[in-house]
Amino acid sequence: MKSMHALDIETVEMTFDIMKYAINRISNTEPELGHPKKETDLMKMVGETITKEGIGGEKAFELFRDVLAKATVPVDHPRHLAFVPAAPTRAAILFDLVTSAASVHGAYWMTGAGGIFCENQAMKWLVSLTGLPEKAFGVFTSGGTAANLSAMITAREYWRELNDENKAYKGLIITSSGAHSSIKSMANVIDADLILVDDDDEDRLTGEWLQKKINQLSFTDRKRLFAVVATGGTTNAGIIDDLESVADVCEKEKLWFHVDAAYGGGALAAPSVRHLFNGIERADSITIDPHKWLFSPYDCGAIIYKNIELAKNAHSQKGAYLDIFKDEGAQGFNPADYQIQLTRRLRGLPLWFSLAMHGTEKYAQAIERGLELAQIAAEKIKTRDYLELIRDPGLSCVLFKRKGWQPDDYIDWTYTNHQAGFALVTPTKWTKNGHSETAARFCFINPDTNEKDIEEILVTMQ
Ligand SMILES: *Cc1c(COP(=O)(O)O)cnc(C)c1O
Repeated sequence: MKSMHALDIETVEMTFDIMKYAINRISNTEPELGHPKKETDLMKMVGETITKEGIGGEKAFELFRDVLAKATVPVDHPRHLAFVPAAPTRAAILFDLVTSAASVHGAYWMTGAGGIFCENQAMKWLVSLTGLPEKAFGVFTSGGTAANLSAMITAREYWRELNDENKAYKGLIITSSGAHSSIKSMANVIDADLILVDDDDEDRLTGEWLQKKINQLSFTDRKRLFAVVATGGTTNAGIIDDLESVADVCEKEKLWFHVDAAYGGGALAAPSVRHLFNGIERADSITIDPHKWLFSPYDCGAIIYKNIELAKNAHSQKGAYLDIFKDEGAQGFNPADYQIQLTRRLRGLPLWFSLAMHGTEKYAQAIERGLELAQIAAEKIKTRDYLELIRDPGLSCVLFKRKGWQPDDYIDWTYTNHQAGFALVTPTKWTKNGHSETAARFCFINPDTNEKDIEEILVTMQ
């Protein structure tokens, strides 16, 4: 039997087919907006694909390209304004292909040095956006969830090592109700309790409300409290907590200060809104997702620490077969030491290539465009009498209502536009002063979205 690693004619032909597809897809400015189908329907169209003899590369690729890919939603479609969309640069996507082709193990300097050097160059720029002091550095993760988890573990280990007594307690973290669902999930993973603080207006975490909550804690709960998680741009509304006053309280109370800027972090590069993040330079750790607003392909998150050595204490894995990495000859920056994952691809490489090619100013410009699109959308909403703007845009998030619509109407609107292959726009809930209502939401990331796209989507709500 022929080996599947053999470089034969079939493989060469398949390479050309796949490269042709990749080139077409990467140069496509308006990809088809696919939608999901039921698994039973996909099965009818495709059949069983894993067989003893294999169905052949040509057939498998054809099924993917002509059937299965059409049952997916491209995140870079200019009228995909739901959740947090994405718009990886062509340079970054191309280099994602290179990252796979280069076959580098990115956990340790010994095997990944040249690639980790590139990742670190990109990381240096990210760290510089935060204003953290000299010693701060970070590492790329699979996403915001993994970054938040890595930070929370580092914080907990630091706290436990401060005092033996702390080892007996279940940890406690304070965050706001606007915090991302991953904060709640990851607190569960590390078996810590979570308390939500919000002020009574828009759930924006402030030092004043944080202090009030801390003062109300029981003696034991105060002992258990080890970290505060603020958000640098809530996923729902783009709200940035009052990082300066929260930092004051964390310093005074000696608490780990984590800022989750998975979505909003890209806006640190945008001069027009940078001041809204003041105080972030006092954080102990910061999450930023390059796969959201820094135009990297999935998946690429980042965790940055004020003192990266603390992360090493928490994350460095030990094993007889890993001892070689402690040897002089293999010394260097080991990404595996600073987050939860051991074996990893060089997922910061696409960002590095795109940054190196385009320069940082183009990044600032593309992010500013997302902010501008949100302002343009808000103005258009204000001039239409059947619509109501709920609040001024938070970063690139716009929340608004269609007067007279019930929750079901928003859902119908979403499906109608999606089924037509026209746009993906979804409703959300907005809560203010304890009152919750359904709203339409836009989140702008893609600088190729234009005014006409916005206009045409608003028309569908008439
Ligand atoms: C998206 C998001 C996350 C989760 O990031 P993933 O990359 O999806 O794991 C965490 N926090 C915030 C604020 C986010 O917007």
